[in-house]
Amino acid sequence: MSTQPGTLPGTLFVIATPIGNLDDISARARETLARVDLVAAEDTRRAGQLLTRLGCRNRLVSLHEHNEADRVAEVLEVLMSGRNVALISDAGTPLISDPGYRLLSELRRHDLPVSPLPGCCAAVAALSVAGLPSDRFLFEGFLPAKAGARRKRLAELLHRPETLVLYESVHRIRDVLADLEQVFGPDRPMTLARELTKLHETIHRGGVADVRERLAADPGGDKGEFTLVIAGDAAPPSVEQAELERVLEVLLGEVSVRQAASLAAGITGAGRRDAYRLANRIKDRE
Ligand code: SAM
Repeated sequence: MSTQPGTLPGTLFVIATPIGNLDDISARARETLARVDLVAAEDTRRAGQLLTRLGCRNRLVSLHEHNEADRVAEVLEVLMSGRNVALISDAGTPLISDPGYRLLSELRRHDLPVSPLPGCCAAVAALSVAGLPSDRFLFEGFLPAKAGARRKRLAELLHRPETLVLYESVHRIRDVLADLEQVFGPDRPMTLARELTKLHETIHRGGVADVRERLAADPGGDKGEFTLVIAGDAAPPSVEQAELERVLEVLLGEVSVRQAASLAAGITGAGRRDAYRLANRIKDRE
């Protein structure tokens, strides 16, 4: 695929849209959405409502998880013909737990022009008010939906030193907080940011158990959209502790908690009581 001789390719503008409050759209985003030749949107109905509220009329084409592979060729053709396209998602920044990756990787392959119009992103908004270290953070997006896989992933993240940022849907927020408490313990500092920039914006700060209790005590508090920010492990495990954990994980697949603790203590030189406590914690999170 290539441009006609003498035609310069158009630009794909990747445009952030509000995550709740419509006034958060930038003047440049509004003007670009009105000016491009085509808007590729995750959901054309929602995008149509947004464009109407912004006073723009524009041609829309859907580009979502299930049709992205097919739509990419169509969008590329428009760009190759010298016309400009905007990419938007339902809310926030496209590609951040939203569609668009396939399109952008094709544009990269063809070396076609792209330009970001930055703005809202729930992860960055939550991090900016969390009051937790923000010099390094790990954006994990959505955890697996199935409980076993989710706990396993949390266990992998347990000792990461960076602040962790998660997205969560209304359906699983209670389960995820319960899993967090079980795997990270009740005291790990966290911030739960709910419905940011909307009428019912709520920000709960505290240990995992406090936040969980406050959410449970807040009628309707488990409705809406959630971003979770969790402090990293301030004191990553020593080499000895990491070795004890590794040995226990292997043994727990074969023998009882008591036997695993006793064997692991013998193998690593750790105290029996420490080994037993850790073996129980590992067993709980499985
Ligand atoms: N691309 C978006 C962005 O830049 O933030 C994220 C899209 S992702 C499909 C949607 C998730 O973002 C929601 O399930 C929720 O976890 C988070 N989210 C979106 N809007 C939010 C809001 N107003 N307050 C808190 N979290 C929000």
